[in-house]
Amino acid sequence: MAEFFSTRNRGEIVRGSEAIMKGIAGDGGLYVPDCFENIYGKCMKAKSYSNLCSTVLSSFFPEIDISDDVESAYMKFSTNPPLCIIKAGDLHVMELYHGPTCAFKDFALSVLPYLMRKSRELEKDSLRTVILTATSGDTGKAALEAFSDRGTGSRDIQIVVLYPQNGVSDIQKRQMITQEGGNVSVIGINGNFDHAQSAVKEIFSDSGLKDELIQKGIELSSANSINIGRLTPQVAYYFHAYRELLERGDISDGEEVSFCVPSGNFGDILAGYYAKKMGLPVHRLICASNENDVLAEFFKTGTYDRRRELLCTSSPSMDILISSNIERLLYHISESTQTVSGWMEKLEKDGFYSVYGDDSQMNEKIKRELAVFDFGSTDHKTAQDTIRRTFENHGYLMDTHTAVAFSVAEKSALSGVKVVLSTASPFKFASSVCEALGIDTSGAGEFEVLDMLSAETGCEIPEPLRALKDKKIIHELTADRRDIKKAVVALLYGQNK
Ligand SMILES: *Cc1c(COP(=O)(O)O)cnc(C)c1O
Repeated sequence: MAEFFSTRNRGEIVRGSEAIMKGIAGDGGLYVPDCFENIYGKCMKAKSYSNLCSTVLSSFFPEIDISDDVESAYMKFSTNPPLCIIKAGDLHVMELYHGPTCAFKDFALSVLPYLMRKSRELEKDSLRTVILTATSGDTGKAALEAFSDRGTGSRDIQIVVLYPQNGVSDIQKRQMITQEGGNVSVIGINGNFDHAQSAVKEIFSDSGLKDELIQKGIELSSANSINIGRLTPQVAYYFHAYRELLERGDISDGEEVSFCVPSGNFGDILAGYYAKKMGLPVHRLICASNENDVLAEFFKTGTYDRRRELLCTSSPSMDILISSNIERLLYHISESTQTVSGWMEKLEKDGFYSVYGDDSQMNEKIKRELAVFDFGSTDHKTAQDTIRRTFENHGYLMDTHTAVAFSVAEKSALSGVKVVLSTASPFKFASSVCEALGIDTSGAGEFEVLDMLSAETGCEIPEPLRALKDKKIIHELTADRRDIKKAVVALLYGQNK
C-alpha cells in the first residue's frame, strides 16, 4: 500500500487520505508516494475510462473507494470517453478539454471533491475545510465548478480562488467572476501567478495562523497541483492514450511512445512520469515551455534559475517561474529529502540551484534519471504560426498552449510515435487564436470573438463558454499582491461570522 511523505522529510509518513486533506506538508514540502505499482496489465484490460482511472487511484489510495464517483465525474464531459485522440500531420493530439470548463484541469478537479469527501470521512475530520487555490487561469474555474455547492460540492468544503487580474484571458476571467454557489469566493490579484502561489504557500506554512484558524473550526487545503490528489487522476489519460493507439494499430504492444506536454507548474507532465513508473512504455516526456522557459533551461543545464521577469504571453496558463511540481521530480531523481531541502532553501534564498554538485555518483544518478525528459521552448510568433499552418494544412484547430507543445514536438528529432497533449479549447483563448489565423477582431467584444472564430473555422463554440454570456458578474473582490494574506484572512473570518 502506497504511503506518502514530504519531499523535505522522510520521517513523517502519512496515509493518502491525510496527504489529500493537508494538500501540502507542514515543512513546506510536497507529498510523494513511497512506491509505484506496475498497473500496465490492469490498465490495458480496463473496461472503460472511469474503470481505468479507478485502477490508477486505487493503486495510490487503496483505502479510498470512489469508483462510482469517478464514473459520475466523467459523465459531465461532453465526450465519452472524456478525451479524443486526433491525428494532425505526423502527430497524435490528445484533446483533454472536453470537460465542464474546457481545459484539462477538469480531469483531476472533477474527481478531487470526491477524493476529499472520502478522505474527510476516513480522517474523521469535523473541521470546515477551506480550499485555497492560486490559479494561472484554468485551475481556478475547474476548482470552482467542481467544489461549488451548485454542482458536486457541498457546504462543508469552501473554496477561495486567487487569480492574476491581468494574467488571464477574457473568457477565463469571465468564467471565474460569474461562478455561482454559496461556498465559493474569488479574489483578483494585482500581480502574477507566482505572487498568488507564493502567498498561498506562505499562508499554508504560517503555523500561528493555522492554530488560530483551527480555534475557529477552519482547516486549509489546496486544489493546486501541489495536492497529490490533483496529480493522480491525470496518470489515467496517459494509459488511455496508449491503449487507444494500440487498438487503432498505430503502435504495437510494448512499443515506446513519447508525450509532449505544454508545461507550467509541471503537474501534467509529472503525471506522465508517474505513468512511466507504473509500467507505461514511455520513450521520452517532452517538456514544452513558452517564453518563460525556466523548465526547458533546467532540463538543458541542470540549473533552475527564476531570477528573471515573468513575461505575460499568449499561453497564460503556462506563465510561471516557480514550478511547484519540479520539487517532486527532484525527490524521485535524487531519492534524498535532505538534498531536496537544500535545493529548495537555495531557491528561496538565492533564486536558483543546480542539481549537479560535488558528488559524482549523485550526478551520474541524476543524469540517468533526467534522461527520460526531452525539452524545448516556443516563442509567440512560432506558436501563432503553428496554429495557422496546422489549420491550413490539416484542418486542425488548436489553442495557444497546445501550439507551444505541437511546435516543440514538430521540431523534436526523436524517433517513434509522438502524442501532443492538448490542454485547452481554442475558444478559451479565442482572441489569440483569431490573431494567429489573421481574423481581425478589433473592436469586438469577447463573445463576438467566439462567434467570429466559429464562423471562420467551422468549429463549434463549446456550450459552457457560450452559456457564459448570460451569466451575472458576482465576484468583484480584488487585493494588492502585498495584501493577499490580509485579504484571505479577512474573507475567512468574515465568512465565519
Ligand atoms: C495548467 C495548464 C497548463 C500547464 O499545466 P501544468 O500541470 O501546470 O504544467 C498548460 N495548458 C493549460 C491550458 C493549462 O490550463
